[in-house]
Amino acid sequence: MKNNFSLNSLVRKNIAELSPYSSARQEFTSEGRAMIYLDANENPYGNGLNRYPDPQQKELKKALSIRKGVQPEQILLGNGSDEVLDLLFRAFCEPGIDNILSLPPTYGMYKVLARINNIEDREVLLDINFQPRVPEILRMVDAKTKMIFLCSPNNPSGNSFSAKRVEAILKGFGGLVVIDEAYIDFSEKESWLQSLEEYPNLVITQTLSKAYGLAGIRVGIGYASGEIIALLNKIKPPYNINELSQRAALEAVQGNEILEKQIRELLEQRAFLETALGELAFVEKVSPSDANFILARVDDAPRRYKELLEHGIVVRDRSSQPLCENSLRFTVGTQEENGKLVEILRKIEKEL
Ligand SMILES: *Cc1c(COP(=O)(O)O)cnc(C)c1O
Repeated sequence: MKNNFSLNSLVRKNIAELSPYSSARQEFTSEGRAMIYLDANENPYGNGLNRYPDPQQKELKKALSIRKGVQPEQILLGNGSDEVLDLLFRAFCEPGIDNILSLPPTYGMYKVLARINNIEDREVLLDINFQPRVPEILRMVDAKTKMIFLCSPNNPSGNSFSAKRVEAILKGFGGLVVIDEAYIDFSEKESWLQSLEEYPNLVITQTLSKAYGLAGIRVGIGYASGEIIALLNKIKPPYNINELSQRAALEAVQGNEILEKQIRELLEQRAFLETALGELAFVEKVSPSDANFILARVDDAPRRYKELLEHGIVVRDRSSQPLCENSLRFTVGTQEENGKLVEILRKIEKEL
């Protein structure tokens, strides 16, 4: 199978022809000299935050580039990966004409972003093991299909997609294949980052919101070919990552042992929860997870959800999603929180 990928025919015409807004801070290079900044109508009195942030986040991209083994030109930063996903829609999908493909049960934002951008969202359900059905997917795409969204590890099922199947989609589809790796840091499986050179139609998103413990600063990352990133750069808001977020992100990306210890601990806790959930009489199935949450099928999800809520514990009821009948999603918390959860679940079990 060979796709006929061509970036020029994929991008919207108005975006290809666009000259981007040029912000004050982009029009010169200081080359390390001390400059007097009278170009951006800022307050000149220094307080650490009186200047506009770097629109290209050079320091942060350099740190990410070293950590992830990709070129800075292959990196786009967004106000959460949700912004990166939205920019992809705006660059490649013609409202009212084009379509995208998503694979439920999966992250709800793909569908919502499609609707906001007036793009048809075609759906091909995962199989019963939550794996992509490749022949059905390739049969569903047409000349107007611009993107396929693969979430791996997948939210809410927690599993990673088979590398063979992902490869078949990358090879067989001529549009963009977006692999959402929000939970990759909890997985033992390889990231797709090292395949960027091999597949010019590959886009990968990651985030600092989950394993990095920085959901509050809203920093997401898109990785793709330099050509794709250049197109997205043209349409992103000039100052989309604020100064405080850039600083916090830089510190996290430069690495710290606390984070690595937290991740190790969360993986141990995930194993503890998997076992404990599996032992409960009202739990019918526990899905194996490569992420920091566990999907479990119970006898009566709305009832168990309500009982947990009454005991002060909030989980996510995913029952309305296909293949997730009576399924609750449990985020892995601290050892203390998980202990408390299991204690309450056992109490509920006794009341059966
Ligand atoms: C949580 C999550 C994200 C994160 O989005 P941000 O905007 O970066 O916080 C992205 N994709 C999936 C599948 C998620 O579950």
